[in-house]
Amino acid sequence: MTPRKVYLDNSATTQVDRKVLEAMLPYFSEEYGNPNSLHAWGREARKGVDNARSQVAQLIGAEPKEVIFTGGGSEADNLAIKGAAWALKDKGKHIITSSIEHHALLDTVKWLGKNGYDYTVLPVDETGMADPKELEAAIRPDTILTSIMYANNEIGTIEPVAELGEVCRRHGVLFHTDGVQATGHIKIDVKELPIDMMTMAAHKMYGPKGVGALYVRKGIKLIPVIHGGGQEFGVRSGTENTPGLIGFGMAAELAANRLASGEIDNEIRLRDRLIGGLTERIPEITLTGHRTKRLPYHASICVKYVEGEGMLLLMDAAGIGVSSGSACTSGSLEPSYVLLALGLDHPTAHGSVRMTLSKDTNDEDIDYVLEKFPPIVEKLRYLSPFYKKNQ
Ligand SMILES: *Cc1c(COP(=O)(O)O)cnc(C)c1O
Repeated sequence: MTPRKVYLDNSATTQVDRKVLEAMLPYFSEEYGNPNSLHAWGREARKGVDNARSQVAQLIGAEPKEVIFTGGGSEADNLAIKGAAWALKDKGKHIITSSIEHHALLDTVKWLGKNGYDYTVLPVDETGMADPKELEAAIRPDTILTSIMYANNEIGTIEPVAELGEVCRRHGVLFHTDGVQATGHIKIDVKELPIDMMTMAAHKMYGPKGVGALYVRKGIKLIPVIHGGGQEFGVRSGTENTPGLIGFGMAAELAANRLASGEIDNEIRLRDRLIGGLTERIPEITLTGHRTKRLPYHASICVKYVEGEGMLLLMDAAGIGVSSGSACTSGSLEPSYVLLALGLDHPTAHGSVRMTLSKDTNDEDIDYVLEKFPPIVEKLRYLSPFYKKNQ
């Protein structure tokens, strides 16, 4: 019998769905035309790109013309923030964001801060929630843009985007949200929400890596980050990644079907089995993020007296893929800035483990994790000088 393998790092990336792969394949070799060419080859590719744009638009209730394809989530975050900041520079130069944003967002805002702009970083509460009242208090006459994520990648908390966006709308401030973790996993309808721009990434929803999009509400002007041939309505130049966009489109269509089918309820059930099972079996662990307002596939905990990296490595040896904090910060000894922003102390934050389920995770996978993880924690605690001291 081959040993069981359980991948629980779907917030880092997901497996490309077989149907997505099959949709992409012809666009590498048969339909290889440049979508900007006028001949038959080009027209076929253009048809594919247009269809993909409609599929992505439909998933979030947008118009196709409101979807700008990019080379991934980081690029879409950069385009939203730099593009809007540059376009509105005569109106004001103040930007508001939160302390738990992805680096693609936070570092872009900080870079603008070194280049003539000013910014405010809003705190979050112990569950990772930003407060609409604090947002309102931070708005100044020169505030042009607010960016607060839809759902956090490390702790799974879903932000009150409707309320946050409403505050921005009332004050005439643009509202961007990084929707990479949420898109395709929870229902989002930009027609019903006061969202002006939203970032998406295909590889977090069973599509290919290096492909993303920025939803931009009709009428909003952005200065391009990438200049050139004027593709993507003049906002993002470069020959389209046709196979990638086809894959993103198919991933969006499949996600829309899943969201309509109620499959999400099963994902939530498995997530809660995992969280409940771990809490029952392991003393002194804390769920990080909000208990209920969290992504359906997301479980994140802090285990006292042990290091996240140790747990990750022993879990890996048991055939289970998890992450300790954020994939981008692993390798550094500093605990995650997101966990510190919740008010956790350093020793607790060091013991963080994130387990993120996929649409294909099943009860046997959860059983396996609940069997393997508690003894790993026990073993590491036995070795930990902090643990012994406290017993
Ligand atoms: C993964 C992620 C990104 C970056 O997207 P890439 O496609 O990997 O560049 C941005 N924001 C959040 C919240 C993410 O989880």
